[in-house]
Amino acid sequence: MQRLTVKNKVNPSEAYGVFTEDELTRSGAIEPHNIILTTNKECPFKCVMCDLWQNTLDERVADGVVAKQVKDALASLPIAKHLKLYNAGSFFDRQSIPKQDTFQIADMIEDFETLIVEAHPKIIGKSCFEYSEYLKPQLDVALGLETVDPDVLPKLNKSMTLDDFKKATEDLLSHDIFVRAFVLLRTPWHSEEEGAYWAKESIDFAHSIGVECISIIPLRQNPRNIDEDFIPPRIEVLNEVVAYGLSKNKGRVFGDAWDDV
Ligand code: SF4
Repeated sequence: MQRLTVKNKVNPSEAYGVFTEDELTRSGAIEPHNIILTTNKECPFKCVMCDLWQNTLDERVADGVVAKQVKDALASLPIAKHLKLYNAGSFFDRQSIPKQDTFQIADMIEDFETLIVEAHPKIIGKSCFEYSEYLKPQLDVALGLETVDPDVLPKLNKSMTLDDFKKATEDLLSHDIFVRAFVLLRTPWHSEEEGAYWAKESIDFAHSIGVECISIIPLRQNPRNIDEDFIPPRIEVLNEVVAYGLSKNKGRVFGDAWDDV
């Protein structure tokens, strides 16, 4: 199933995505979020379903490069209360973003209320907690739960168990850091019906350990690992799963419809 593919040509001196998007906040208001997709080294986990590698570099960037990307991007964005800094990997992976860059970024964003970053659950630890202590905005960490299907989670190449996810969530919450979870809708090993079933089970698991915000991600074709004949779930199924999550009244549940669903 593995196929060789080439990455997009990205420029290390600039973030590859800079835009603003409205999102529902914890307090119930829909507010603009500035979003910066930094350009850096590929995530080492190489999960089967992940297509973020397409806009990454093969090598670690030099110290200061990512901080400069963020500085330039912020200068081009409108004023907002919330900032998402997604790096196609883990914000606390020093091969992706050097430590000094993360602190330079913290100093640039003191006026924001919230900083949302992404990280692999196994990377959650001291570096994250120290960062949260230093940071002025509230830190909110997005973790990939993916699926609680015990037959499928090990096949995703994520090198993570549900216990790892639970521990990372509990550690973050105990340090007053917010947690959001990504849940996959339909993996390559699921029929559409099974995909909906396991997405709902995953929502229940995330809620049971205190996750307040969940994003449902319908799987799409991935030139590296997911065959061209993979049929992404229909929008109706995505809506059904989101409605299920919302019916639990335990927090926000988003459906990521990509651009083309
Ligand atoms: S850990 Fe996240 S960013 Fe890294 S390969 Fe897996 S899904 Fe992609």
